[in-house]
Amino acid sequence: MKNKNNYDYLLADLTKLNGVGKKTMEILKKKKVNNIFDLLWRLPKSYTDRTLVSKICDLQIGVIQTIRIVPLKYQFPRVRNLPNRVNCIDETGKIDCIFFNSHEGYVRKILPLNEEVTISGKIGNYKGRYQITNPTYISQDSSLIENIDNKYSLTEGITEKTYNKIINQILKNLPILPEWHDKDILKIFNNESWNESIIKLHDPKNIENYKSDFYKRLAYDEILASFLVNSEIRKKIKKIKKISKNFSEKAHKNIVNKLNFTLTNDQKISLGDINKDLNSKSKMFRLLQGDVGSGKTIVALISSLNVINSGFQVALMAPTEILARQHYTLAKKLFPKDIKIELLSSKSENSEKKRIIKNLENNEIQMVFGTHAIFQKKIIFANLGYIIIDEQHKFGVRQRKLLSDKGGDNCDVLLMSATPIPRTLTMSVYGDMDVSIIKEKPSNRKEVKTYSKLESKIDDVINFVKKEIKEGNQIFWVCPLIEESKKLDHQSSVTKYKFLNEIFPNKVALLHGKIANEEKEEILNKFLNKKYSILVSTTIIEVGIDFPNANVIIIENANKFGLSQLHQLRGRVGRGTKQASCILMFKSNLSVNAKKRINILKNSNDGFEISEEDMKLRGFGDLLGFKQSGIKNFRLADPIQNEDLFLMAEKQIKKIELENTDIKKYKALLKLYDQADIINDMV
Ligand code: ADP
Ligand code: MG
Repeated sequence: MKNKNNYDYLLADLTKLNGVGKKTMEILKKKKVNNIFDLLWRLPKSYTDRTLVSKICDLQIGVIQTIRIVPLKYQFPRVRNLPNRVNCIDETGKIDCIFFNSHEGYVRKILPLNEEVTISGKIGNYKGRYQITNPTYISQDSSLIENIDNKYSLTEGITEKTYNKIINQILKNLPILPEWHDKDILKIFNNESWNESIIKLHDPKNIENYKSDFYKRLAYDEILASFLVNSEIRKKIKKIKKISKNFSEKAHKNIVNKLNFTLTNDQKISLGDINKDLNSKSKMFRLLQGDVGSGKTIVALISSLNVINSGFQVALMAPTEILARQHYTLAKKLFPKDIKIELLSSKSENSEKKRIIKNLENNEIQMVFGTHAIFQKKIIFANLGYIIIDEQHKFGVRQRKLLSDKGGDNCDVLLMSATPIPRTLTMSVYGDMDVSIIKEKPSNRKEVKTYSKLESKIDDVINFVKKEIKEGNQIFWVCPLIEESKKLDHQSSVTKYKFLNEIFPNKVALLHGKIANEEKEEILNKFLNKKYSILVSTTIIEVGIDFPNANVIIIENANKFGLSQLHQLRGRVGRGTKQASCILMFKSNLSVNAKKRINILKNSNDGFEISEEDMKLRGFGDLLGFKQSGIKNFRLADPIQNEDLFLMAEKQIKKIELENTDIKKYKALLKLYDQADIINDMV
């Protein structure tokens, strides 16, 4: 295939490659390699030097070596299962080639007697004789043997040889793409072109050459592509014109006066951002990001009231019913009585559901709370003006875009998330939205005290729990997360429940994934009403519920969780005025790195700081905690190592937005690197 200035080749199916059939394609598909482009990012880990080196007398046993030999004699045993053998020589010694599961004819063909042949493989020794078993390469033309074979982390079912053949074929056929970067940017990377960079990336001499220009260029491509897509979505949403919401200062004051606290500065600023957007003529698409317990709900409710007062309906969606109910109850308490709000619950009677649905359509309900059920097709809003989504940090760019389309042009959108992310990642994760951040915690909050304990010291923990219960406090007991098996997960929580129930009869409740939703809600409600002192659970309690009376959380097998996740769990306590504690339990002594991570948690109660520090401790490409939170996984770019590139891309995006650059010149970049379907309608 000749080089083309076009990227179609890269986006082609793997079967376009010589030597790749359906079977290989299926194997690679399972590894998320869907096209030729995807294969480019599976980098060689090490390489085998097959440069012709040895004479037989110099061979080293156990090492892969390449030699030129002359076959002298075949030994084809008549006994099944015995290998075929060929005695070979060079001027310095003897070696045997051994073939298992091979046909005579094949052996005769590849190793014709008395003709010089180059072979390559691992040198073995059998009864004092050198031998090579099933040589990797055999060829009469030594130039046909790749001098240097890259080693990729192989997928079962594909041999190293096949894999190298595939990659070399791709590298030979790489299209020369038109340069998408400006000259000044390219200069920073020493003018490395995309094409050259890819070739260098697979050059064994460059393994782990993260600091080189070609590597940085490729990382930058990736970052910019991700930022660009987000920026385009954002621009597109901003262009949507809507009827602006108008609202009264008085209603706002009324609700604020009902609170038994004053809003923090950050809450006020965020509310200001939101109100300004609601008030404007373009559609709002905003993220309210704030650490656990920073008080996002109240900001959402106050802004909702403004929307309602200007004649629109509001829908608030929460990930669980109990959370939806909690928001609903708070609104009921704070909103003026004449405002009609409803909770659409799966538990409600059918007639009740029907009434709510009908009244939403008749514009007789002003605000509805619920889970994703409130966005079913059969629910039609008369005049929806505001969608609030709570705790949906796992929503990706696509889902958010769908959501923003759903409400219609007049509908503003607010997402709330308690997952703080490191600064370098903000643009790639939330670049499609405007962002308000609540950093400050309410001033009455006490820091949660964090301890670590070995599991063998459980008696100390039990004594501590006894003391807390005596004082009327409540405890969350989070059981080890066993990712491999839901069944084990369940068992461990049941065992713990039984254990604790012996010590604290009738005071312990159990919650795990197998309990039906309705029962779950009931248990949580009973716990909320202090019917139980201890709630044993898997991580279900992670999401947003406010339990002001719970002030101890015990997390077993804490090393199974990412720091951000531990911080989220810890945030379930310490919402009241009492001193709260978090006890992290471990099976065995911690490694140095694990200790460092736990110290970060002990020393900080600030989610943003924790996520930054956590990221710094993780190795290259090891961003497990972030993957879990739905954050895009980069192929090469690393948010710590390449911080400068992230900042550079951020600057470039601002420039592109400001100068209104036509992004057509980035077409190939976007098509190749990113959500091509999202940008289909853009470039
Ligand atoms: P999150 O941001 O995690 O969703 P919530 O909105 O659930 O936090 O608020 C946590 C608790 O803090 C609630 O009980 C809420 O009433 C309270 N709260 C919110 N804002 C303030 C404030 N400014 N001062 C004191 N308490 C507040
Ligand atoms: Mg919340």
